Amino acid sequence: MKNNTKINTRIAPSPTGPLHIGTARTALYNYLYAKKNGGKFFIRIEDTDTKRCKKKFFKNAMDSMHALGIFEDALFVQSKRTGIYKKELERLIAEGKAYISKEKSKKNNKKFVKVVRFKNHKKIIEFQDTIRGQIKIDTTELGDFVIARSISDPLYHLTVVVDDEDMEITDVIRGDDHISNTPRQILLIEALGYKIPKYTHLPLIISPDGGKLSKRKSDTSILNYIDSGYLPEALLNYLSILGMGETDNIKNQSKDEIKDMDQLIDFFNIDKLQKRSATFDNKKLGWFNKQYIKKLSYIDFRTHLSFCLFKKYPVKSILRKKITEEILKDLKERYYTFTEMKDALKNKEYDYLFKSTNKDEEKISQKKSNKKDTLIHLKKLVEIIRDLDTFTVESLKNNIYMYTDKVGVGEVLWPFRYSLSGKEKSIDGFLIASLIGKKETIKRLNVSIEILKK
Ligand code: GLU
Repeated sequence: MKNNTKINTRIAPSPTGPLHIGTARTALYNYLYAKKNGGKFFIRIEDTDTKRCKKKFFKNAMDSMHALGIFEDALFVQSKRTGIYKKELERLIAEGKAYISKEKSKKNNKKFVKVVRFKNHKKIIEFQDTIRGQIKIDTTELGDFVIARSISDPLYHLTVVVDDEDMEITDVIRGDDHISNTPRQILLIEALGYKIPKYTHLPLIISPDGGKLSKRKSDTSILNYIDSGYLPEALLNYLSILGMGETDNIKNQSKDEIKDMDQLIDFFNIDKLQKRSATFDNKKLGWFNKQYIKKLSYIDFRTHLSFCLFKKYPVKSILRKKITEEILKDLKERYYTFTEMKDALKNKEYDYLFKSTNKDEEKISQKKSNKKDTLIHLKKLVEIIRDLDTFTVESLKNNIYMYTDKVGVGEVLWPFRYSLSGKEKSIDGFLIASLIGKKETIKRLNVSIEILKK
């Protein structure tokens, strides 16, 4: 007895390449819909095309979905189920609904093959799609289409309908590139006496310029995204909004969109899926990633970077703990992915915390001020600092602010910070000074003074 109230969904990837962003989104929607309705979500590997399917892509598909937190209630692999397709093919032939046809092989003109063709009565197929509404397609032009290369070598349309029936799939949620396949599948479902599932065809995911996502498979691979520094939970969250009325503008991105899997299940509404195609924007993904990075605890965040963090820097710094904390804080503020952060560390972004770095004469003064004034400010800074008994961020601020109150903040603090870091962007100047110490601070300010004097 079949249970008609239960919801069962499935994702059916063909392992011919790394799992694509689009397939992952489809998997997620199937998962969310099933879980929202107390149903089951299945993974079905469609690997009957033995020439194109590879074991490594089967593994890649499973790893990708599991990395995102999408876990199946059961796994089916088509290449292990050939018996069931053969049985149904034989039934169709016995009932006169399909026939074996001896035809010239497409590859070798001299050879003959025995394909199985479906006897098409050329009717008009109508079905209801959750997103598109009523769809009507005339099947006349499809003719008697091939459903198996031989009695033991079934093709896609047949395996899909046999499996959907066997797995009691109630809802087929898939990409809208499958709309044109649906009439053929419904013809087969009717001929086999199966139950027609509910169809939801999801609009494509496109790139910001309106084109196809990417021709290079590696660019759209879930595992590649994760490898290049995106947190799986951020990727999952971003995938979830692609098609659920996502905001177009990065500026309108709202924290309300940050949801974990349980919240996504709660929030999911199949009737609210949008008709227009969804745009995959790396910038928006970056925004999501940053939100998740900000949520990491200090220890978790450090763990992601620790391998790179200490590699380039001297061991013998008494301030290593403090410096580490400040570097991590700055990385978290400035970058969107762990890869960007690792690259910054590899490119010695924070060298100025350990040694004096080169300075560019043109950059010592803030843009709007002149070199003569900057020279005066730098000399004054040296004087102030020389007189300090305690050398902390607070004492530096208190004393330097007394001076900037009179002459202006930017004109003084820019050359101060730049002289210490040699960088247009760096951590705060007071902090750098407190970390490198009084002697080194004065030394670096003097280097700038000498450069400007020339
Ligand atoms: N194996 C098909 C694909 O990878 C999916 C079939 C389906 O969802 O019905 O596109």
